[in-house]
Amino acid sequence: MIYDLVRYQYDDKSALKRENVLLVSLGCSWGKCAFCDYQDDKSSSVLACDTVNKKVLQNVKGKDINCSCLDVTCSASYTELPFTTMNLIKDVCVLKGIKKVILEGHYLYRDSNKYYADFFGRYDINVMFRCGVETFDEHLREDILRKGLPHVTPEQLAKYYQWINIMFGMEGQTLEQLHKDIETGLEYFERINLSIYTSIPRGPKRDKEAIEKFYNSDFYKELKDNDRIDIFDEWDDSNDHKVGHDK
Ligand code: SF4
Repeated sequence: MIYDLVRYQYDDKSALKRENVLLVSLGCSWGKCAFCDYQDDKSSSVLACDTVNKKVLQNVKGKDINCSCLDVTCSASYTELPFTTMNLIKDVCVLKGIKKVILEGHYLYRDSNKYYADFFGRYDINVMFRCGVETFDEHLREDILRKGLPHVTPEQLAKYYQWINIMFGMEGQTLEQLHKDIETGLEYFERINLSIYTSIPRGPKRDKEAIEKFYNSDFYKELKDNDRIDIFDEWDDSNDHKVGHDK
């Protein structure tokens, strides 16, 4: 079903100023990640997806607010957006002078990236590809989170993706591992999104103590000041990062 979510946000706090849109997809084919409750925001109807997505994309302002970057997320991989929606994205980019589009997808779809880079490239639009990695701890990522990247190395990922998502704050994760994940992320990728974990029913638990420890650490200050890292916490008090929140 299509949820009532905040689907547009302008992020002018990040070093990479960008407009964020959360679109509706046809559904995630992988669908196994233990921490994911957003994959239900979908429709099997291309028409329904396009109708919502067109409305969301009408919010994009681009050159009107001096912003040339559009970050596209959905409840699946970008390849699982109808291609008609992809055309709508391209149209709004051309109309609003967007020069960089961010597309997020599962590693399963890595071979598709080049086709989409070509598609947007024809309109002089550069694409950055982002992949949800969550952690480089193989046991946690594959046995607990069921992320579906078995034995995939940072080198292999970096051939296809310039940006990764890292997650912290679930039971079993340590600050030491986060240090390693960030270090690896910064070595191989241009940017990192660090999400502070929010628990879901039947998913791993949120480790409040570890999160508190992180927020009180110098490491947090260091990451906050790093222009290549954005930190997201849906449960933050000031609710700074609203994309994906229930309305
Ligand atoms: S690939 Fe993404 S949308 Fe699909 S289950 Fe995993 S986190 Fe959810």
